[in-house]
Amino acid sequence: MSYHKVKNGKLVPAGRFQVLVDNFYARNEPMIIRVLDAITRFFVKLKARPVLWVLSRLMGTVLPTGEVVTTGRALRFVDAVSRLDRVEIAVGPCMCQKALGKRSGTYMKDMVILYGAEAYKAAYPAEYRDLSAGEAKEALLAFEKEGLIPTFYSCLRSSGWIYAICNCEGKICFPFRAHQAAGAVMHRGPDVVALNREDCTGCGTCVERCHFGANRLVGGTSEVDLTKCYGCGLCVSTCAGHARKMAERSGYSPRYYPIDLVAGAPA
Ligand code: SF4
Ligand code: SF4
Repeated sequence: MSYHKVKNGKLVPAGRFQVLVDNFYARNEPMIIRVLDAITRFFVKLKARPVLWVLSRLMGTVLPTGEVVTTGRALRFVDAVSRLDRVEIAVGPCMCQKALGKRSGTYMKDMVILYGAEAYKAAYPAEYRDLSAGEAKEALLAFEKEGLIPTFYSCLRSSGWIYAICNCEGKICFPFRAHQAAGAVMHRGPDVVALNREDCTGCGTCVERCHFGANRLVGGTSEVDLTKCYGCGLCVSTCAGHARKMAERSGYSPRYYPIDLVAGAPA
């Protein structure tokens, strides 16, 4: 199998150099996470916001950063690459849980894609396994049920370097916590939630489901701060009153999610 990257809305073969760089990163990722986690915790404790700001910008430049999408969009990506007969998807252990020696929820949730699949399988042959398109979609639906955030990760801030759909959560996931501390690590995706308050039953599930603190109950009815919504859609599927849906984010400019590739894939 030859491995691919996205370029101009199409899949093209990834060069060996790209696979080798990602393979080098993959091999060292647990150590990088441990070191950066310790540094971040230290400065969070000191409440040194300017240092965290600089640190997160540095991390956001040289280390992988992510774009949050809905599970529906992640499923459509899997469909698109499988229709193009290039199902390059594998799953392995959550690198943050592995690196930090902590466990919470599903462990096997690092979904590597395209050239990232080759790089991670070569780095950890015993820990990553190939997924068919059907298996990948089943896993993504289970992650959504669990409340994990589907996030397309890329190296070097390039849409041509997307290599994983990480399924992040708020307790252990290092990029998520680094982003909460000072930003620049995770980006808002193409969708944003739309709420019809008249249908809200006040159940409060949306407050629990949102990792970004975008929802709160006011006088027994939900209220959403759209500036805090990253577009994961986790609050929609569990809304008791069916008061929520996802809408296109105005002013969105594509970052990592290969929106053109998915739109242009054969039906
Ligand atoms: S989940 Fe839906 S019904 Fe429940 S509080 Fe939130 S918006 Fe209202
Ligand atoms: S408000 Fe809903 S869609 Fe937006 S980030 Fe929170 S859980 Fe995700």
